[in-house]
Amino acid sequence: MSLATESPSPSPSSSSGSDDFAALLDAELELTSVVDSASLGDPSTSSTSDDEEDGDEDVVVEVEAVEQSSTKRRKVIEQVQDRGITIKPDEDAKGSCKDSQIKICPPHPGFFGGLCFRCGKRQDEEDVPGVAFGYIHKGLRLGTSEIDRLRGSNVKSLLRERKLVLILDLDHTLINSTKLHDISAAERDLGIQTFASEDAPEKSLFTLEAMQMLTKLRPFVCKFLKEASNMFEMYIYTMGDKAYAIEIAKLLDPGNVYFGSKVISNSDCTQRHQKGLDVVLGAENVAIILDDTEYVWQKHKENLILMERYHYFASSCRQFGFSVKALSESMQDERESDGALATTLDVLKRIHTLFFDSAVETALSSRDVRQVIKKVRQEVLQGCKVVFSRVFPSSSRPQDQIIWKMAEQLGAICCADMDSTVTHVVAVDSGTEKARWAVGNNKILVHPRWIEASNFRWHRQQEEDFPVPAPKEKSKQKGKENADAVAPGPTES
Ligand SMILES: [Zn+2]
Repeated sequence: MSLATESPSPSPSSSSGSDDFAALLDAELELTSVVDSASLGDPSTSSTSDDEEDGDEDVVVEVEAVEQSSTKRRKVIEQVQDRGITIKPDEDAKGSCKDSQIKICPPHPGFFGGLCFRCGKRQDEEDVPGVAFGYIHKGLRLGTSEIDRLRGSNVKSLLRERKLVLILDLDHTLINSTKLHDISAAERDLGIQTFASEDAPEKSLFTLEAMQMLTKLRPFVCKFLKEASNMFEMYIYTMGDKAYAIEIAKLLDPGNVYFGSKVISNSDCTQRHQKGLDVVLGAENVAIILDDTEYVWQKHKENLILMERYHYFASSCRQFGFSVKALSESMQDERESDGALATTLDVLKRIHTLFFDSAVETALSSRDVRQVIKKVRQEVLQGCKVVFSRVFPSSSRPQDQIIWKMAEQLGAICCADMDSTVTHVVAVDSGTEKARWAVGNNKILVHPRWIEASNFRWHRQQEEDFPVPAPKEKSKQKGKENADAVAPGPTES
């Protein structure tokens, strides 16, 4: 029996691993369709096909199948591990769970190339439940209980290594890309394409020839990945297509040490326009997501650290409605030292420390990184008591507004009325009654963008950097001030 293995997995430079995996499953399937007569010692039982499971032979076949099944499952785990996903042999399972492994298909643990990798039966309509893991290997599909089991083993081995799972978006999070035909006149005049094609050491601007694109790595990304890899098993997860994801993975991870096959792209998603942890072999309670788009993570908002968008190219700014000069056009960039990735790395370190080292009674395996993320977020504006002044439309319930909820998630107390315990008045106009009260009562008057910026940078920002304009000034700036807009990150020329 031979399997279609013509298409290698997304792994940029581990084709040998891919071939091994194909060969293994090939051999496994060979074994199941014709039971190895040598090991069974009886040529008459040389078939385990579903139609012949009756009579005394059944017992022999079943025992054999059990042994084969555990070997196969172990091998599949090993192979998954070869593809870069950490799963160490599980002590619990080795000893006591022999009984629990006495399982004959169905349910099938999973399929490879349309055939069950335990019994060799062809996948049919009723076997559809489960998830395709095409990024690990084309044609690999795992059943729900097998996924749960692999996830369980993965978590145990990760925790032993003091690691969690980190899911990384690409565009606007780690990089920014532009189509060549979208390059602005200013970018062209500055010779951006020449820079991209130069062969300079430590360069961060690249040409993706085949895709007619330029890609800029976000400042600090290399150090970020290096340090994060000590604390996390890392995945790339992009809505971009597979070929693009693989090209970017090569730029970010030229030695192929961080990601292996763990590069998930749009074709792997199980739901349109949504990203999900269902295709990740890391459990929800240990997974942290970095992404600039909250919308795509509807089911996993608690796992998400929302990133400040990285706009380097003019086309990226245009796409998001910014009419400002792009970083590329002004020869600037985010600062390495306190840009978004450096800030985020600090947050990740804090979360990692709290998860593993906090003096809580909870056993490591029952801790939940979502609770830790929540806790770290609440430290940001702890001790602040905030009153909003005409920031929201008068027809709306202030408690439902994003900024209000954001302040609360950051640990601030939001209230409607002024009293002596209030610390901040948030306003877009210093002429309002509450704004004037703030000035007269020694309270801090600040623009709502202070909350947004504190949210993005996971750190209480200096209030004086977010002054509230006087009514006159405000009308001058009209159109520029947008409470929903992302505050620009720190830059350097
Ligand atoms: Zn099966």
